[in-house]
Amino acid sequence: MNPDVLIVGGGIVGAACAKAFLGQGMSVTIVERALIGGGATASGMGHVVVMDDSESQFALTHRSRDLWDALVPVMPAEVEFERRGTLWVAADEEELAAVSSKKSYYLERGVETELLDAKALYQAEPGLRAGMAGGFLVPGDSVIYAPCAANWLSEGATRVFDEVAEIGDGWVKLRNGDRLSAQILICATGAFATELFPALPVKPRKGHLAITDRYPGAVQHQLIELGYLKSAHGHSTESVAFNVQPRKTGQLLIGSSRQYGVEDKAVEQHMVSKMLTRAVEYLPSIQNMSVIRLWTGFRAATPDKLPIVGLCPGLKQTYLATGHEGLGITTSLGTAELLLNLVRGQTGILRAADYGAERFAECRA
Ligand SMILES: Cc1cc2nc3c(=O)[nH]c(=O)nc-3n(C[C@H](O)[C@H](O)[C@H](O)COP(=O)(O)OP(=O)(O)OC[C@H]3O[C@@H](n4cnc5c(N)ncnc54)[C@H](O)[C@@H]3O)c2cc1C
Repeated sequence: MNPDVLIVGGGIVGAACAKAFLGQGMSVTIVERALIGGGATASGMGHVVVMDDSESQFALTHRSRDLWDALVPVMPAEVEFERRGTLWVAADEEELAAVSSKKSYYLERGVETELLDAKALYQAEPGLRAGMAGGFLVPGDSVIYAPCAANWLSEGATRVFDEVAEIGDGWVKLRNGDRLSAQILICATGAFATELFPALPVKPRKGHLAITDRYPGAVQHQLIELGYLKSAHGHSTESVAFNVQPRKTGQLLIGSSRQYGVEDKAVEQHMVSKMLTRAVEYLPSIQNMSVIRLWTGFRAATPDKLPIVGLCPGLKQTYLATGHEGLGITTSLGTAELLLNLVRGQTGILRAADYGAERFAECRA
């Protein structure tokens, strides 16, 4: 039996789409070649964050954070939702001065924030290196455990574990030779999107993360340096930024790095050293903590750092949901809502044209 909706890729984006369409009483099948939530979704930090790199990014992250919040009452404990808030750290007066315009920008768009002077910053996070100028707190941001979230969001969907070898308008051919079709086909294959759609401007962007042993209470908020956006939005081959997240287990997740042009998933010592050095510059106690595991993952990066969500150009039944770079855990729910609206011919809070593949010349051909 063919389902109403067929989703290729069981990461957080595919899983969020599954939940949205199941919620409409439709039958959903996910085809996944490895594990549900085992791709970039398992490599990420799980920070649900409103970001202001562009108007469209702000709209998508803001709407998505609201959708995560709406799920909190029904979320199982293994999703490990915690409203930690994001504390953007200003290392000097110049960074702190820039933050005031950030505050009004967030406020005008309905997101609560707080400016912290140096005293308030150290009250909030006593472990930060002395001499920081202040901070910008976004109290409504949160943290989840994304692999379990993906598993939960996709409950109720039929799961087929195989690889999609070919894709067309409303149909796929699996590696085992089976053909599946559906009125609505969604390709949510993350950083691997170009395997099935070679023209898409999606490039893998490698990231490293480290996790420490348990140090409960060492950090209270998701801590990020204000320079993070430079690393995330820039196009340099390699960059690192201070980004530390307290987990429910008492562990600290330490990031983050970004690299283009590296397809090997091996942990690279020089990137780990750069990343940990940066972390110690902000949070000196890290040098006395045991890092118990290191890993890498691949973000699906697009030239403008916005995802590609919408109908595949030239097709009528096949939709794309990829290119979520370092925000796909956050933006999975907004992506799913946007696709559902597109399929139903409805308009929602998000402007579909901002995220459609047609914004790229190579996709309009
Ligand atoms: C180091 C790092 C830190 C991050 N931190 C955060 C964060 O704090 N907050 C945040 O919001 N985001 C974060 N991200 C980004 C986030 O992890 C990704 O944007 C998100 O997980 C993408 O989800 P996805 O479902 O698109 O991709 P994936 O999770 O990669 O899922 C795609 C799935 O498709 C499957 N697949 C691929 N090709 C085929 C095929 N042909 N047939 C069948 N199955 C196929 C894969 O096996 C995979 O399971 C981070 C990423 C990294 C690397």
